[in-house]
Amino acid sequence: MPESTEDRGLDTCTTCPTLCRWSCPVAETEARETTSPQRLVVLSSLLKQEKITAETVGVTPYHCSHCYACVEACLHHNDVPMLLSLARSRVYKAGAAPAGIREVTANFAVAGNAQGAQLDVALKEAAQEAGTGVQHEGETVYFPGCSTLENSPEVVTDFLRAVALQGAPVPALTTVSASCCGLPLLWAGDLVGFTLHARRLAERLKGTRRLIVEDPTCAHAFLVRYPWLKVELDVEVQTSAAFLADAAQKNEAPTSAEAKKNGPAACAFHRSCGQLRGLHEVEAPMDLLTRAAGAVAELPGEHDCCGAAGLLPTAAPATARAMAEARLEAFRRTGATTLVTSSPRCLAHLRSVDPNASVEALTSVVAKS
Ligand code: SF4
Ligand code: SF4
Repeated sequence: MPESTEDRGLDTCTTCPTLCRWSCPVAETEARETTSPQRLVVLSSLLKQEKITAETVGVTPYHCSHCYACVEACLHHNDVPMLLSLARSRVYKAGAAPAGIREVTANFAVAGNAQGAQLDVALKEAAQEAGTGVQHEGETVYFPGCSTLENSPEVVTDFLRAVALQGAPVPALTTVSASCCGLPLLWAGDLVGFTLHARRLAERLKGTRRLIVEDPTCAHAFLVRYPWLKVELDVEVQTSAAFLADAAQKNEAPTSAEAKKNGPAACAFHRSCGQLRGLHEVEAPMDLLTRAAGAVAELPGEHDCCGAAGLLPTAAPATARAMAEARLEAFRRTGATTLVTSSPRCLAHLRSVDPNASVEALTSVVAKS
């Protein structure tokens, strides 16, 4: 972001009577003004002007789940999450980021992902489990994302099964498929690390025509944050939901869901922030879920963010947990038996908060339909 754009964003919020306050799930959950979008940006401005120190600011800019609710509510569409990423980068650079955040970047140094995990092993096992016959070369490549491979590898298996079920060509699984998009580095405030990671991945993707991305937050990173850093990604990016919805439309075979379309909803749909506001992808996931499961209930409640993203579970675990509990409570009120989400990151977070809750990935529901 050019400095003039950052300054304009900071000034816009500083002079605003905090019109987006109602939209922020973090400030609402914490019931305090300090973490409202406007106050966070004012703090970021003071930090940039060196009127306060990074040590004083500390963890505060990390109290944001990057849900984009304030961006959507703002008349100027001010990119608050990006302004906060820049504030985080100043805190990080000064060595004042919380220990959990520094652990994330240390994991990248070791393994190239936030978890410090061997993602290639998880990918291989998930593909073997699918038994679809993995091809390592192809113009279309599947990108599960590090959180998916580490926490919910069954979603990868289910994606491969769902593709076979739709009769669509199975995307290739290459070494890139076992990589991270780098977004946790940006969330941590390691702007230099994120830029280098993005450039390396863009280089490795040369020759790939299309990338099918499981986690909508990764797709948002590729489509919005890479260009923001002027990293050219010469590849078409499509979410797995959009890819499977396209395949389902082409494959007009009736599904078992047809009979359930007018019945009570067995599934409630948790729309992830990354998909809803990060990508503005609304119809494809719902179309896919309706085809697979019949009638679908939308979750009630003013705030739809479960708190999984933006490293909120690392920086403010109690807040992230309370946000997930609110979504699970909204799910129980619908009377549906399964909560479905198109984000593997949300899936892992919701399951970690209530291991007994029936939460499934959209991809898995399609594979089992
Ligand atoms: S994001 Fe927009 S609405 Fe919210 S405080 Fe800033 S200028 Fe105001
Ligand atoms: S992106 Fe979401 S969590 Fe972050 S300040 Fe805006 S509304 Fe709050």
